[in-house]
Amino acid sequence: MPTADPLAADLAGVVGQQHLLVDPDLLAAYETDWTRRFSGRARLVVRPGSTAEVAEVVRRCARAGATVVPQGGNTGLVGGGVPRGGEVVLSLARIDGLDEVDGVSGQVTVGAGATLAAVQAHVRAAGWTVGIDLAARDTATVGGMVATNAGGLQVMRFGTMRARLAGLEAVLADGSVVSRLGGLDKDTTGYDLVGLLCGSEGTLGIVTRVRLRLAPLVPAGVTVLLGLESTEAAVGTLAELRRRGAPLVSAEWFQASAVALVRGHTGLPAPPCGTHPDHLLLDAADRHDPVEAMAAALDGLDGGDTAAVADDRAGREALWAYRERITESIGAAGIPHKLDVALRPDRFAAAVAALPAVVADAAPAARLVLFGHLGDGTVHVNVLGLAPDDTAVDEAVLRCVVAHDGTIGAEHGIGVAKAPWLHLYRSDEELRAMAAIKAALDPAGMLNPGVLLPAVRRPPPAPPR
Ligand SMILES: Cc1cc2nc3c(=O)[nH]c(=O)nc-3n(C[C@H](O)[C@H](O)[C@H](O)COP(=O)(O)OP(=O)(O)OC[C@H]3O[C@@H](n4cnc5c(N)ncnc54)[C@H](O)[C@@H]3O)c2cc1C
Repeated sequence: MPTADPLAADLAGVVGQQHLLVDPDLLAAYETDWTRRFSGRARLVVRPGSTAEVAEVVRRCARAGATVVPQGGNTGLVGGGVPRGGEVVLSLARIDGLDEVDGVSGQVTVGAGATLAAVQAHVRAAGWTVGIDLAARDTATVGGMVATNAGGLQVMRFGTMRARLAGLEAVLADGSVVSRLGGLDKDTTGYDLVGLLCGSEGTLGIVTRVRLRLAPLVPAGVTVLLGLESTEAAVGTLAELRRRGAPLVSAEWFQASAVALVRGHTGLPAPPCGTHPDHLLLDAADRHDPVEAMAAALDGLDGGDTAAVADDRAGREALWAYRERITESIGAAGIPHKLDVALRPDRFAAAVAALPAVVADAAPAARLVLFGHLGDGTVHVNVLGLAPDDTAVDEAVLRCVVAHDGTIGAEHGIGVAKAPWLHLYRSDEELRAMAAIKAALDPAGMLNPGVLLPAVRRPPPAPPR
């Protein structure tokens, strides 16, 4: 489609006309985030196919004074990957190459636009796992997962994305490329740029390639679904399972309200462990069949007598459906406010118990759905029935979490959704340090303005003579 925007013509010269989108119908898919709560108009969408093209696009955007929103799979839940109004959306989707697995180091280098599912299948074929899994796996990209320091279902065994990172390559706001893909386990040569870019939500640089640490695939697994009478019981059961050395990979928690929502949306039958106020879904994996180890670990614990157990693929998927289909069921019920937070085990149950009253006080008609990764303390607080821009509940929930010594951001990032409340959890000194880092790496404020930190636009630095 012809356009009067000179930047579009300029960028088409870099990526090719077919990878430069200006048609409103084509832009639409890039303009609204997964929750449908956040959306804005893009100036254009550009889809570079290599690191060199990303660098050239960034240089030309900088020259034109344009702001840039990096986007991967657009499965983010905090409005950080969609335009707020008039930004260039830079999609990494075409940079999705998968290098051969390095079986000596147990690492692999992949393009930032590769989906998690593609990388999982690629390394599984070579006998490895990436140690990261989440329900958006078919669409979420590795670059987006680095940018948000994604967590997911296996953090309790393998850590978050930062722990899985052996290196990365990124384009900075001046178009320069930093490449730390050597894969060395030890490196004390100054500032950790890889760690800094991880979790920076596209505000410091655009990740183009990622080197991941892999873990050997273990062949045997078992899934257990427990029904529990309280959140305290769920926390206590998990703590005791850990103390007994259960070979856990995942420990997911959800309440009866989530089960009701999933059943209503999907038509699933009641869970085979029965419906209880709280549920704990456990995945265990080991070199040897973990069924007996799990049975021994569960012996005499709360929920152990109602446990539903499956060690075949279909049976395990059937149990996981109660957890994996929660997010889509919430989305089908309305546009949620999603507040992803984390708590210590000793504060988890008290915070969860406080939330219904906190939400009811701020919005009496709202519907609260709670679930999360108990293995790492994450609670996904979902509130339905609010206008997208009504943030009274958001603030009340985040204040409640901080009052219980928790963090307001566990894994989806801060985005624009939680940026106004970052000060609740990070001190003035920390916020000043973050702003200084942003100003040093992106002096003009062109990368993802308004995400994580307040937008600050300055004139671009003069080019070198
Ligand atoms: C059903 C469902 C389940 C989910 N479960 C989890 C979960 O368990 N754990 C979890 O952590 N998240 C979860 N998420 C959230 C989401 O999948 C993650 O945040 C994921 O990391 C986003 O990846 P993406 O490629 O879709 O990024 P996008 O949504 O496109 O972008 C997310 C952020 O990263 C930035 N970004 C994207 N790519 C790059 C890049 N290459 N360089 C620099 N910045 C970039 C964007 O600007 C934006 O700020 C879930 C989402 C859904 C829809």
